[in-house]
Amino acid sequence: MAPQPTETVDTATPPPTAVELTGAIARIREYLERCKPATPCLVVDLATIRERYEELSQAFAGAKLYYAVKANPAREVVRLLVELGAHFDVASPPEIDLCLAEGARPEQISYGNTIKKRADIGYAYQRGVRLFTTDSDADLEAIAEAAPGSTVFCRIVLADTGSLTPFGHKFGCAPDMATQLLAKAAELGLTPAGVSFHVGSQQLDPRAWDAAIEQAGEITAKLAAEGVELTMLNIGGGLPGRYSRPAPPLADFAAAITASVTKHFAAQPRLVLEPGRFLVSDAGLLRSEVVLVSRKSTVDDKRWVYLDVGRYNGLAETENEYITYLLSTPGRDGETGPVCLAGPTCDGDDVLYQHNVYRLPMELRAGDHVDFLNTGAYTASYSSIAFNGFAPLPTHCV
Ligand SMILES: *Cc1c(COP(=O)(O)O)cnc(C)c1O
Repeated sequence: MAPQPTETVDTATPPPTAVELTGAIARIREYLERCKPATPCLVVDLATIRERYEELSQAFAGAKLYYAVKANPAREVVRLLVELGAHFDVASPPEIDLCLAEGARPEQISYGNTIKKRADIGYAYQRGVRLFTTDSDADLEAIAEAAPGSTVFCRIVLADTGSLTPFGHKFGCAPDMATQLLAKAAELGLTPAGVSFHVGSQQLDPRAWDAAIEQAGEITAKLAAEGVELTMLNIGGGLPGRYSRPAPPLADFAAAITASVTKHFAAQPRLVLEPGRFLVSDAGLLRSEVVLVSRKSTVDDKRWVYLDVGRYNGLAETENEYITYLLSTPGRDGETGPVCLAGPTCDGDDVLYQHNVYRLPMELRAGDHVDFLNTGAYTASYSSIAFNGFAPLPTHCV
Protein backbone atom coordinates (compact mmCIF):
# COMPACT_ATOMS: atom_id res chain seq x y z
CA MET A 1 0.00 0.00 0.00
CA ALA A 2 1.36 3.39 -0.96
CA PRO A 3 1.70 5.87 1.90
CA GLN A 4 -1.10 8.37 1.89
CA PRO A 5 -0.64 12.12 1.99
CA THR A 6 -1.65 13.66 5.24
CA GLU A 7 -4.77 15.71 4.94
CA THR A 8 -6.97 17.26 7.54
CA VAL A 9 -10.64 16.54 7.40
CA ASP A 10 -12.14 19.13 9.62
CA THR A 11 -15.11 17.63 11.36
CA ALA A 12 -14.71 20.32 14.01
CA THR A 13 -16.82 22.31 11.63
CA PRO A 14 -19.70 19.87 11.65
CA PRO A 15 -20.83 18.57 8.26
CA PRO A 16 -22.34 21.46 6.28
CA THR A 17 -25.76 22.51 7.49
CA ALA A 18 -27.15 21.57 4.11
CA VAL A 19 -26.18 17.99 4.90
CA GLU A 20 -27.47 18.22 8.47
CA LEU A 21 -30.82 19.50 7.33
CA THR A 22 -31.51 16.95 4.62
CA GLY A 23 -34.78 15.19 5.06
CA ALA A 24 -32.87 11.93 4.84
CA ILE A 25 -30.85 12.51 7.97
CA ALA A 26 -33.87 13.83 9.86
CA ARG A 27 -35.93 10.77 8.92
CA ILE A 28 -33.11 8.37 9.76
CA ARG A 29 -32.44 10.04 13.14
CA GLU A 30 -36.16 9.91 13.92
CA TYR A 31 -36.11 6.16 13.20
CA LEU A 32 -33.00 5.65 15.34
CA GLU A 33 -34.57 7.52 18.30
CA ARG A 34 -37.83 5.67 18.01
CA CYS A 35 -36.57 2.12 17.41
CA LYS A 36 -33.14 2.25 19.05
CA PRO A 37 -31.72 -0.60 16.94
CA ALA A 38 -28.52 -2.25 18.17
CA THR A 39 -25.35 -0.69 16.78
CA PRO A 40 -23.59 -0.79 14.46
CA CYS A 41 -26.33 -0.59 11.85
CA LEU A 42 -27.01 1.01 8.50
CA VAL A 43 -30.27 2.91 8.04
CA VAL A 44 -31.34 3.63 4.46
CA ASP A 45 -33.78 6.37 3.48
CA LEU A 46 -35.66 5.06 0.46
CA ALA A 47 -36.99 8.51 -0.48
CA THR A 48 -33.42 9.66 -1.19
CA ILE A 49 -32.84 6.75 -3.57
CA ARG A 50 -36.06 7.68 -5.38
CA GLU A 51 -34.82 11.30 -5.67
CA ARG A 52 -31.43 10.25 -7.02
CA TYR A 53 -33.03 7.89 -9.52
CA GLU A 54 -35.33 10.63 -10.80
CA GLU A 55 -32.48 13.15 -10.95
CA LEU A 56 -30.38 10.72 -12.97
CA SER A 57 -33.24 9.82 -15.32
CA GLN A 58 -33.72 13.51 -16.05
CA ALA A 59 -30.02 14.27 -16.48
CA PHE A 60 -29.66 11.40 -18.98
CA ALA A 61 -33.05 11.46 -20.69
CA GLY A 62 -33.57 8.42 -22.89
CA ALA A 63 -30.77 6.40 -21.27
CA LYS A 64 -31.35 3.00 -19.70
CA LEU A 65 -30.29 2.86 -16.05
CA TYR A 66 -28.98 -0.48 -14.76
CA TYR A 67 -28.54 -0.33 -10.97
CA ALA A 68 -25.31 -2.07 -9.92
CA VAL A 69 -26.81 -4.30 -7.25
CA LYS A 70 -23.55 -4.82 -5.35
CA ALA A 71 -23.63 -1.22 -4.10
CA ASN A 72 -26.54 -2.06 -1.81
CA PRO A 73 -28.42 -5.33 -2.23
CA ALA A 74 -31.07 -4.72 0.48
CA ARG A 75 -34.38 -6.20 -0.70
CA GLU A 76 -36.24 -2.95 -0.06
CA VAL A 77 -33.76 -1.06 -2.24
CA VAL A 78 -34.10 -3.50 -5.14
CA ARG A 79 -37.90 -3.52 -4.78
CA LEU A 80 -38.08 0.29 -4.86
CA LEU A 81 -35.94 0.42 -7.99
CA VAL A 82 -38.14 -2.23 -9.64
CA GLU A 83 -41.13 0.03 -8.90
CA LEU A 84 -39.30 2.98 -10.44
CA GLY A 85 -38.69 1.02 -13.63
CA ALA A 86 -34.93 0.57 -13.22
CA HIS A 87 -32.86 -2.14 -14.85
CA PHE A 88 -30.26 -4.14 -12.93
CA ASP A 89 -26.58 -4.88 -13.41
CA VAL A 90 -25.76 -8.16 -11.66
CA ALA A 91 -22.60 -10.20 -11.14
CA SER A 92 -23.77 -13.63 -10.00
CA PRO A 93 -26.72 -16.06 -9.89
CA PRO A 94 -27.73 -14.98 -6.35
CA GLU A 95 -28.00 -11.36 -7.54
CA ILE A 96 -30.18 -12.54 -10.46
CA ASP A 97 -32.42 -14.42 -8.02
CA LEU A 98 -32.63 -11.38 -5.75
CA CYS A 99 -33.80 -9.11 -8.59
CA LEU A 100 -36.33 -11.64 -9.89
CA ALA A 101 -37.65 -12.27 -6.36
CA GLU A 102 -38.23 -8.54 -5.90
CA GLY A 103 -40.23 -8.33 -9.12
CA ALA A 104 -37.75 -7.51 -11.88
CA ARG A 105 -38.39 -9.13 -15.24
CA PRO A 106 -35.45 -11.00 -16.80
CA GLU A 107 -35.37 -8.43 -19.65
CA GLN A 108 -34.44 -5.83 -17.02
CA ILE A 109 -31.30 -7.71 -15.98
CA SER A 110 -27.81 -7.44 -17.41
CA TYR A 111 -25.11 -9.92 -16.39
CA GLY A 112 -22.30 -7.36 -16.33
CA ASN A 113 -19.52 -9.42 -14.76
CA THR A 114 -16.98 -10.50 -17.39
CA ILE A 115 -15.73 -13.26 -15.06
CA LYS A 116 -18.30 -16.04 -14.98
CA LYS A 117 -18.53 -19.82 -14.94
CA ARG A 118 -20.21 -21.43 -17.92
CA ALA A 119 -22.73 -22.98 -15.53
CA ASP A 120 -23.61 -19.52 -14.22
CA ILE A 121 -24.15 -18.23 -17.76
CA GLY A 122 -26.44 -21.22 -18.34
CA TYR A 123 -28.30 -20.47 -15.12
CA ALA A 124 -28.82 -16.84 -16.13
CA TYR A 125 -30.08 -17.93 -19.56
CA GLN A 126 -32.44 -20.45 -18.03
CA ARG A 127 -33.85 -17.68 -15.80
CA GLY A 128 -34.46 -15.55 -18.92
CA VAL A 129 -31.44 -13.20 -18.87
CA ARG A 130 -30.37 -12.28 -22.42
CA LEU A 131 -27.84 -9.49 -21.92
CA PHE A 132 -24.20 -10.10 -21.00
CA THR A 133 -20.89 -8.23 -20.88
CA THR A 134 -17.73 -9.94 -22.06
CA ASP A 135 -14.07 -9.06 -22.51
CA SER A 136 -12.46 -12.30 -23.70
CA ASP A 137 -12.66 -14.95 -26.37
CA ALA A 138 -13.29 -17.82 -23.95
CA ASP A 139 -16.12 -15.99 -22.17
CA LEU A 140 -17.68 -14.97 -25.51
CA GLU A 141 -17.69 -18.60 -26.69
CA ALA A 142 -19.20 -19.71 -23.39
CA ILE A 143 -21.99 -17.12 -23.84
CA ALA A 144 -22.63 -18.25 -27.43
CA GLU A 145 -22.97 -21.86 -26.24
CA ALA A 146 -24.76 -21.44 -22.90
CA ALA A 147 -26.87 -18.37 -23.78
CA PRO A 148 -27.43 -18.63 -27.56
CA GLY A 149 -28.83 -15.60 -29.35
CA SER A 150 -28.10 -13.23 -26.46
CA THR A 151 -26.96 -9.62 -26.73
CA VAL A 152 -23.43 -8.67 -25.63
CA PHE A 153 -21.44 -5.63 -24.64
CA CYS A 154 -17.66 -5.79 -24.84
CA ARG A 155 -15.76 -4.00 -22.08
CA ILE A 156 -12.58 -2.09 -22.85
CA VAL A 157 -9.82 -1.54 -20.31
CA LEU A 158 -8.91 2.06 -19.55
CA ALA A 159 -5.64 3.73 -18.69
CA ASP A 160 -5.52 5.47 -15.31
CA THR A 161 -8.75 7.39 -14.90
CA GLY A 162 -7.86 9.26 -11.73
CA SER A 163 -10.62 7.50 -9.80
CA LEU A 164 -10.25 7.11 -6.03
CA THR A 165 -11.19 3.45 -6.32
CA PRO A 166 -10.07 2.34 -9.82
CA PHE A 167 -10.71 -1.06 -11.37
CA GLY A 168 -7.11 -1.38 -12.60
CA HIS A 169 -6.48 -4.06 -15.20
CA LYS A 170 -8.78 -6.78 -13.96
CA PHE A 171 -11.57 -6.07 -16.47
CA GLY A 172 -11.74 -5.12 -20.11
CA CYS A 173 -9.56 -5.70 -23.15
CA ALA A 174 -7.69 -3.50 -25.64
CA PRO A 175 -9.80 -1.68 -28.28
CA ASP A 176 -8.48 -3.90 -31.12
CA MET A 177 -9.49 -7.01 -29.30
CA ALA A 178 -12.91 -5.52 -28.46
CA THR A 179 -13.44 -4.83 -32.17
CA GLN A 180 -12.61 -8.45 -32.99
CA LEU A 181 -14.77 -9.86 -30.21
CA LEU A 182 -17.83 -7.81 -31.22
CA ALA A 183 -17.43 -8.91 -34.85
CA LYS A 184 -17.05 -12.51 -33.72
CA ALA A 185 -20.15 -12.18 -31.52
CA ALA A 186 -22.18 -11.51 -34.67
CA GLU A 187 -20.61 -14.57 -36.37
CA LEU A 188 -21.56 -16.70 -33.36
CA GLY A 189 -25.22 -15.71 -33.69
CA LEU A 190 -25.15 -13.22 -30.83
CA THR A 191 -26.23 -9.58 -31.10
CA PRO A 192 -23.31 -7.21 -30.48
CA ALA A 193 -24.79 -4.21 -28.63
CA GLY A 194 -21.81 -1.96 -28.16
CA VAL A 195 -18.79 -1.07 -26.09
CA SER A 196 -18.80 -0.81 -22.29
CA PHE A 197 -16.30 0.47 -19.75
CA HIS A 198 -16.02 1.75 -16.18
CA VAL A 199 -14.07 4.90 -15.34
CA GLY A 200 -13.53 3.80 -11.72
CA SER A 201 -15.82 4.33 -8.78
CA GLN A 202 -16.19 7.69 -6.97
CA GLN A 203 -14.97 9.50 -10.08
CA LEU A 204 -14.70 13.23 -9.36
CA ASP A 205 -13.65 14.39 -12.84
CA PRO A 206 -16.49 14.84 -15.36
CA ARG A 207 -13.93 14.65 -18.22
CA ALA A 208 -12.82 11.14 -17.20
CA TRP A 209 -15.36 9.54 -19.57
CA ASP A 210 -14.14 11.32 -22.70
CA ALA A 211 -11.17 9.12 -23.69
CA ALA A 212 -13.22 5.95 -23.29
CA ILE A 213 -16.15 7.38 -25.28
CA GLU A 214 -13.70 8.35 -28.02
CA GLN A 215 -12.36 4.77 -28.17
CA ALA A 216 -15.89 3.39 -28.20
CA GLY A 217 -16.75 5.74 -31.09
CA GLU A 218 -13.75 4.48 -33.08
CA ILE A 219 -14.65 0.84 -32.48
CA THR A 220 -18.25 1.53 -33.47
CA ALA A 221 -17.15 3.28 -36.69
CA LYS A 222 -14.73 0.47 -37.61
CA LEU A 223 -17.39 -2.17 -37.16
CA ALA A 224 -19.97 -0.13 -39.09
CA ALA A 225 -17.53 -0.14 -42.03
CA GLU A 226 -17.50 -3.96 -41.79
CA GLY A 227 -21.29 -4.07 -41.74
CA VAL A 228 -21.64 -4.74 -37.99
CA GLU A 229 -23.98 -2.17 -36.46
CA LEU A 230 -23.65 -1.28 -32.77
CA THR A 231 -26.61 0.66 -31.44
CA MET A 232 -25.66 1.14 -27.80
CA LEU A 233 -22.94 2.57 -25.57
CA ASN A 234 -22.53 1.45 -21.96
CA ILE A 235 -20.75 4.11 -19.92
CA GLY A 236 -20.75 2.08 -16.67
CA GLY A 237 -20.79 3.59 -13.18
CA GLY A 238 -18.45 5.97 -11.40
CA LEU A 239 -20.78 8.87 -10.56
CA PRO A 240 -19.84 10.04 -7.08
CA GLY A 241 -21.42 10.16 -3.65
CA ARG A 242 -20.86 12.93 -1.10
CA TYR A 243 -17.86 12.42 1.13
CA SER A 244 -15.33 14.85 2.57
CA ARG A 245 -13.88 15.87 -0.82
CA PRO A 246 -16.55 17.85 -2.67
CA ALA A 247 -17.81 16.39 -5.96
CA PRO A 248 -19.08 18.42 -8.92
CA PRO A 249 -22.87 18.41 -9.42
CA LEU A 250 -24.53 15.77 -11.58
CA ALA A 251 -25.27 18.36 -14.27
CA ASP A 252 -21.52 18.76 -14.92
CA PHE A 253 -21.12 15.02 -15.50
CA ALA A 254 -24.17 14.86 -17.74
CA ALA A 255 -23.01 17.84 -19.82
CA ALA A 256 -19.46 16.49 -20.28
CA ILE A 257 -20.61 12.96 -21.12
CA THR A 258 -23.34 14.09 -23.51
CA ALA A 259 -20.89 16.40 -25.29
CA SER A 260 -18.36 13.55 -25.65
CA VAL A 261 -20.95 11.22 -27.15
CA THR A 262 -22.06 13.86 -29.65
CA LYS A 263 -18.45 14.55 -30.58
CA HIS A 264 -17.24 10.96 -30.99
CA PHE A 265 -20.24 9.17 -32.49
CA ALA A 266 -21.58 9.63 -36.00
CA ALA A 267 -25.02 8.30 -35.06
CA GLN A 268 -26.21 8.77 -31.47
CA PRO A 269 -26.13 5.43 -29.63
CA ARG A 270 -28.67 4.51 -26.95
CA LEU A 271 -26.88 5.17 -23.67
CA VAL A 272 -26.67 2.62 -20.87
CA LEU A 273 -25.57 3.65 -17.37
CA GLU A 274 -24.73 1.33 -14.51
CA PRO A 275 -25.01 3.59 -11.45
CA GLY A 276 -24.24 2.04 -8.08
CA ARG A 277 -22.81 4.52 -5.60
CA PHE A 278 -24.66 7.55 -7.00
CA LEU A 279 -28.10 6.04 -6.38
CA VAL A 280 -27.62 4.78 -2.84
CA SER A 281 -24.69 6.41 -1.05
CA ASP A 282 -26.41 9.59 0.13
CA ALA A 283 -29.39 7.57 1.35
CA GLY A 284 -27.53 5.78 4.13
CA LEU A 285 -26.41 6.61 7.64
CA LEU A 286 -24.27 4.17 9.59
CA ARG A 287 -24.65 4.51 13.34
CA SER A 288 -21.83 3.26 15.53
CA GLU A 289 -21.08 3.35 19.24
CA VAL A 290 -17.84 4.40 20.88
CA VAL A 291 -16.26 1.39 22.63
CA LEU A 292 -13.22 3.12 24.09
CA VAL A 293 -11.41 6.45 24.00
CA SER A 294 -7.74 6.25 25.00
CA ARG A 295 -4.29 7.79 24.62
CA LYS A 296 -1.04 6.02 23.75
CA SER A 297 1.20 8.19 25.92
CA THR A 298 0.95 10.98 28.41
CA VAL A 299 2.46 13.45 25.93
CA ASP A 300 0.52 12.55 22.76
CA ASP A 301 -2.44 14.86 22.21
CA LYS A 302 -4.04 12.48 19.75
CA ARG A 303 -6.76 10.24 21.16
CA TRP A 304 -7.63 6.82 19.78
CA VAL A 305 -11.36 6.36 19.35
CA TYR A 306 -12.39 2.72 18.99
CA LEU A 307 -15.84 2.10 17.51
CA ASP A 308 -18.05 -0.98 17.27
CA VAL A 309 -17.83 -0.69 13.47
CA GLY A 310 -14.63 -1.16 11.48
CA ARG A 311 -13.03 -2.43 8.32
CA TYR A 312 -14.71 -5.84 8.51
CA ASN A 313 -18.29 -5.03 9.44
CA GLY A 314 -19.21 -2.17 7.13
CA LEU A 315 -16.34 0.22 6.49
CA ALA A 316 -14.27 -1.75 3.95
CA GLU A 317 -13.96 1.36 1.80
CA THR A 318 -11.77 3.06 4.40
CA GLU A 319 -8.96 0.83 3.08
CA ASN A 320 -6.11 3.17 2.08
CA GLU A 321 -8.38 5.90 3.46
CA TYR A 322 -9.62 6.52 -0.09
CA ILE A 323 -13.16 7.17 0.99
CA THR A 324 -13.31 9.74 3.78
CA TYR A 325 -16.81 9.78 5.19
CA LEU A 326 -18.43 12.79 6.81
CA LEU A 327 -18.95 12.17 10.52
CA SER A 328 -21.36 13.51 13.07
CA THR A 329 -21.54 12.99 16.84
CA PRO A 330 -25.15 13.60 17.88
CA GLY A 331 -25.52 15.30 21.24
CA ARG A 332 -21.80 16.10 21.53
CA ASP A 333 -20.49 19.38 20.27
CA GLY A 334 -18.04 21.81 21.79
CA GLU A 335 -14.29 21.77 21.61
CA THR A 336 -12.69 19.15 19.37
CA GLY A 337 -9.28 17.49 19.14
CA PRO A 338 -7.47 15.18 16.73
CA VAL A 339 -8.22 11.46 16.76
CA CYS A 340 -7.27 8.19 15.15
CA LEU A 341 -10.37 6.14 14.42
CA ALA A 342 -10.30 2.35 14.63
CA GLY A 343 -12.59 -0.65 14.60
CA PRO A 344 -13.24 -3.21 17.32
CA THR A 345 -11.43 -6.35 16.07
CA CYS A 346 -8.01 -7.76 17.04
CA ASP A 347 -6.62 -6.98 13.58
CA GLY A 348 -3.91 -4.36 13.15
CA ASP A 349 -5.37 -3.29 9.79
CA ASP A 350 -8.74 -2.56 11.37
CA VAL A 351 -7.93 1.15 11.54
CA LEU A 352 -10.27 3.54 9.72
CA TYR A 353 -8.41 6.84 9.66
CA GLN A 354 -4.97 7.74 10.95
CA HIS A 355 -3.41 9.62 7.99
CA ASN A 356 -6.51 11.75 7.50
CA VAL A 357 -6.72 13.55 10.79
CA TYR A 358 -10.33 13.73 11.92
CA ARG A 359 -11.28 15.91 14.86
CA LEU A 360 -13.96 14.84 17.31
CA PRO A 361 -15.37 16.45 20.49
CA MET A 362 -13.11 16.29 23.56
CA GLU A 363 -16.09 15.18 25.63
CA LEU A 364 -16.66 12.04 23.50
CA ARG A 365 -17.03 8.98 25.77
CA ALA A 366 -17.65 5.23 25.53
CA GLY A 367 -21.33 4.68 24.79
CA ASP A 368 -21.68 7.84 22.63
CA HIS A 369 -22.71 7.54 19.00
CA VAL A 370 -20.60 8.35 15.96
CA ASP A 371 -22.70 8.58 12.76
CA PHE A 372 -21.07 8.00 9.36
CA LEU A 373 -23.05 10.00 6.79
CA ASN A 374 -23.75 9.03 3.18
CA THR A 375 -22.85 5.40 3.75
CA GLY A 376 -25.57 3.75 1.67
CA ALA A 377 -23.11 2.30 -0.86
CA TYR A 378 -20.54 -0.45 -0.40
CA THR A 379 -20.96 -0.77 3.37
CA ALA A 380 -23.39 -3.56 4.27
CA SER A 381 -22.62 -5.33 0.97
CA TYR A 382 -18.91 -5.60 1.84
CA SER A 383 -19.69 -6.83 5.33
CA SER A 384 -20.46 -10.47 4.81
CA ILE A 385 -18.37 -12.44 7.29
CA ALA A 386 -18.56 -12.34 11.06
CA PHE A 387 -14.81 -11.82 11.38
CA ASN A 388 -13.65 -12.13 14.98
CA GLY A 389 -17.26 -12.67 16.08
CA PHE A 390 -18.48 -9.22 15.00
CA ALA A 391 -21.73 -9.72 13.06
CA PRO A 392 -22.23 -8.44 9.50
CA LEU A 393 -23.82 -4.99 9.36
CA PRO A 394 -27.63 -5.08 9.48
CA THR A 395 -29.66 -2.73 7.23
CA HIS A 396 -32.93 -1.04 8.22
CA CYS A 397 -34.94 0.89 5.61
CA VAL A 398 -37.20 3.87 6.33
C1 LIG B 1 -19.57 -1.90 -9.49
C2 LIG B 1 -19.97 -1.70 -10.88
C3 LIG B 1 -20.73 -0.59 -11.24
C4 LIG B 1 -21.13 0.50 -10.27
O1 LIG B 1 -20.10 1.40 -10.04
P1 LIG B 1 -20.33 2.73 -9.19
O2 LIG B 1 -19.01 3.38 -9.21
O3 LIG B 1 -20.77 2.30 -7.83
O4 LIG B 1 -21.37 3.53 -9.87
C5 LIG B 1 -21.12 -0.47 -12.56
N1 LIG B 1 -20.79 -1.39 -13.49
C6 LIG B 1 -20.04 -2.48 -13.18
C7 LIG B 1 -19.72 -3.46 -14.25
C8 LIG B 1 -19.60 -2.66 -11.88
O5 LIG B 1 -18.86 -3.72 -11.58
